[in-house]
Amino acid sequence: MRLRKLVCPYDPSLINSLHRRQIAVRVEEPSLVREAADAVAKSNNSLLCVILDFAQPLTALPIGDNWDGIPVLLMVSAVGEFRGVVSKLPALKKPNLRVALPSCKDNLRDARILASVGVYCSIFIERGGMDGSVDWDELSDLMTYALCARVPHAPVDPFDYISRHYDPMTHLKWDAVYLENPEEYFHLDTEKNVALSSKDAFARHFIGRLDEVEKEEPPEVIRRADAWSNLFLEKSVCATCEGFKLCMGKYLPKDGKADGCASFFAEMFEVLGELETLKEKSGKEALWQL
Ligand code: SF4
Repeated sequence: MRLRKLVCPYDPSLINSLHRRQIAVRVEEPSLVREAADAVAKSNNSLLCVILDFAQPLTALPIGDNWDGIPVLLMVSAVGEFRGVVSKLPALKKPNLRVALPSCKDNLRDARILASVGVYCSIFIERGGMDGSVDWDELSDLMTYALCARVPHAPVDPFDYISRHYDPMTHLKWDAVYLENPEEYFHLDTEKNVALSSKDAFARHFIGRLDEVEKEEPPEVIRRADAWSNLFLEKSVCATCEGFKLCMGKYLPKDGKADGCASFFAEMFEVLGELETLKEKSGKEALWQL
């Protein structure tokens, strides 16, 4: 079985008990970022990133002056008053930091502002998030800004990730940008129990201990990986959705009726297609010159 990358809480004895793994370590206190990174560096493992689950807005976050060189995913629920962010911009613009925000309307607006001043952002698109729904029109605006705007700006994920991995000939599973795809990531607790997503780990839905789970491919991973194919058997609206290759039914509402998701993903599909065409053309059209 292919060895997964691991997402685990910061626990020195857990980290030291792992060998030659790529690890993303979760901490809740900014003061633990350097300590967690150092613990992985001293172990037999390599660091993917430190995930800082910060319960307050970005404005309240003290950015450590000893975080240089550590990839840090700053998970915040909101940005807060923008004037509170200005003094932090030099630190936030460093390439090792990424600000991750849930997809509520205010955050979509704030992510665009942050990206425009050079801060790398990541939007967690989630139904049933803070305001219960996704504003697909706002998300569409952010997506076209992230992928098409000519003005300089920092990347915005998942759009940047999707455009870098997009292949018109196949579907794309892009949950890895959230460290979530169980075909690539396992989430551990301090006892090495394995969950297949961060939500499962928080809810303590484990499928077994790491050493047992890694003996053979867990059936639940296979079931989740193939879940999209049931949408065709069930004749779901997803089966005829233009954006299926990008969404794969991930955002199907509970009532089974597609809302703005279908037009959002169809639009993104179109944008990616246009970017592909531009890429193919670039360099082929010689400027006519005497
Ligand atoms: S965009 Fe909506 S309708 Fe289309 S595949 Fe995704 S969930 Fe289904």
